[in-house]
Amino acid sequence: MSTPAPLHRPPRRRLLKAALADLLPASVQQALALLRSVWQRWFLWVLLAVLVLGLLVTVVWLAGRHEAEQVQAALDRDTADAVADLRSGLQRNVQSLQALQAGGLDSDRWSTDVTPLMRGHREWLRLEWRDAALHTVAVADTPYHVRVFDEASRKAAQGEIESACADAVKLNAAAYSSSHYVPQPDNRGLEVMELCVRADGGGYLVASYALRDMLTELVTPTMRRGQEVSLTEPDGTRLASIGTARRAGSRVFTAQQPVELPGATMVLRVDGWRGAPDVFPNLLTGLVTAMSIALVSVLVLLASDTRRRLRAESELADTLAYRKAMEDSVITGLRARDLRGHTTYVNPAFCEMVGFSAEELTAVEGASPYWPTELAHEYERRQALRQAGGVPPREGFESVFMRKDGSRFPVLIFEAPLINAHGTQTGWMSAFIDLSEQRRIEEISRASQERLQASARLATVGEMASLLSHELTQPLAAIASYASGSLNLLQDGADAHPHSDAAQVAMAVRRIAEQADRAGQVIRSVHDFVRRRDRTREPVAPQALVEAVLPLVRLQARKTGVRIDVLIDEGLPRVFCDRTLVEQVLLNLARNGMQAMDLPELRSRVLVLRVTRSPEPPADGVAPDARRWLEFCVADVGSGIADEVAAQLFTPFFTTRADGMGLGLSLCRTVVEQHGGALLFEPNHPRGTVFRFTLPVT
Ligand code: ADP
Repeated sequence: MSTPAPLHRPPRRRLLKAALADLLPASVQQALALLRSVWQRWFLWVLLAVLVLGLLVTVVWLAGRHEAEQVQAALDRDTADAVADLRSGLQRNVQSLQALQAGGLDSDRWSTDVTPLMRGHREWLRLEWRDAALHTVAVADTPYHVRVFDEASRKAAQGEIESACADAVKLNAAAYSSSHYVPQPDNRGLEVMELCVRADGGGYLVASYALRDMLTELVTPTMRRGQEVSLTEPDGTRLASIGTARRAGSRVFTAQQPVELPGATMVLRVDGWRGAPDVFPNLLTGLVTAMSIALVSVLVLLASDTRRRLRAESELADTLAYRKAMEDSVITGLRARDLRGHTTYVNPAFCEMVGFSAEELTAVEGASPYWPTELAHEYERRQALRQAGGVPPREGFESVFMRKDGSRFPVLIFEAPLINAHGTQTGWMSAFIDLSEQRRIEEISRASQERLQASARLATVGEMASLLSHELTQPLAAIASYASGSLNLLQDGADAHPHSDAAQVAMAVRRIAEQADRAGQVIRSVHDFVRRRDRTREPVAPQALVEAVLPLVRLQARKTGVRIDVLIDEGLPRVFCDRTLVEQVLLNLARNGMQAMDLPELRSRVLVLRVTRSPEPPADGVAPDARRWLEFCVADVGSGIADEVAAQLFTPFFTTRADGMGLGLSLCRTVVEQHGGALLFEPNHPRGTVFRFTLPVT
């Protein structure tokens, strides 16, 4: 039937594992197994912790970045505003210059016109009025500075001025020169930018801006502290800057914006600093961080809570297992029922008691399968009473249950309400004790009690028999001697007339003497038997035993219409026995057989007495070659023996007859067994019973 297993290679991983297991020492393998179990247990937690940590770091980083972006955006806005301020300031200055020449330029009024203007524009170092050929007509220097320019430096700047003015002509508007450096005596120097505005009458007004002052006057008011504002060339070369020097440990944000002026292009650069460490820069990040810490704390609490729960769970499981073990090992049956009477739980002891499985018992609704059918109604009534609130007796009550095989057994039931943790009744709990064993023991003790009484009666009987034998021996002896005396007297007449009455009387008297003698012997043997003296055993021919009881048997047979068949095998040896007792056994068995055939419907009533060599060794197992046996057999065709009678046939005082004593068979067996033989019985064919017993050959 079995098909060959499909050939498939074991997975390489498993092979590797097996090879590794062979290679590694046991301690390392144990450590690995421990590591694996710890890893399996903690894997999810580690994963969760890593994820949460990753999430928190990301959130904090994003918050920081968001804030930096905001700072950068604000700086960009500030820078754009500053450029706009610068442009509008420069534009206003151009307008001031144009306003200066509104009333016409006059070298006499120059100084009075220009001085208030110079006071209002601190960013200007000098204002020059130049003619069309760019020769200086009038000059005014700022009062806020030590003198910056001299002849040489103005000459050096001539190129710048020319290009600015050329642009102004070209654009027909104010134009600027690129910045140029004006060295100072203290080696510091200044970056200066020229503004050229065309004046009426073909001249020019040239204003020299100090770039640093330009920033101070036109840009600074709008800028915050903590920022450095610079003007640079498009290539990044720094021209002028104002503001705070960079603080150590702070982060720098930079924004740049081109400042395109007619004739010149510069870049306004603003550097902003932010103090404090970057990781906790502001409220948002702080909040996120606080929440992260809270989250981690919750995680830790959760982990410890889970550990506590796991421990509680395992303790609970242990307790449950312990309870279950207790319920399973207890020998009292336990059963729980709900308020409707449905069985919800049974323990193994109960299942074993009734022979049903727990599933079979809990599956059924209504009448339980272990209720005997004839009592089911009463039990249902009892259950209804219980459901109606009837309280069961505290000391328990007895009942009868039925096993799965149909046999009934007595149980003692203790019932109590099943109260749950909230104090409400959810059903009934019952405990059962199987009383069968107890009943059996009670029965045995009752039987032994009876047997004891029987033995006591037997002893009394023995006592009486002994007394009787003593009392009867003398009258019997007297009868015997009177009989022999009478016999002697009759003998003479009988001899003379053999067929006369006297001869018959003599015969009768002889029989009287014989019987009196026999009765004496019987009484003596009973006396011996009771007294337990060594009985006299002797070799006796089986023939003699049978013939001794035949007259009595025939006497009874005639009364009941029974035919007696005697079959004794030829050449049988003699048996070694107490002949009186064995005769009594034969007599008892024959009498029992005849009584069993005393049935009105029985036509032919035959009692067979047979003596043969025993084909088998006796039942007590003595070796067959050690002794030879004769078998005595008494067979009737009577009522036969029913099984329940057969079970107690040899029990003293057991009888089915109204006038019976119930001692016959029990005594017979004792006698036969005392001789070493066995008394057995079996059904006769076609009907009736055969009793056989064996006796040892001499
Ligand atoms: P008793 O004869 O006083 O009743 P026994 O011990 O001799 O006492 O017999 C016990 C019972 O055994 C009898 O009551 C009878 O029912 C049964 N019994 C004995 N011998 C036979 C037999 N041959 N056939 C049927 N029943 C018998």
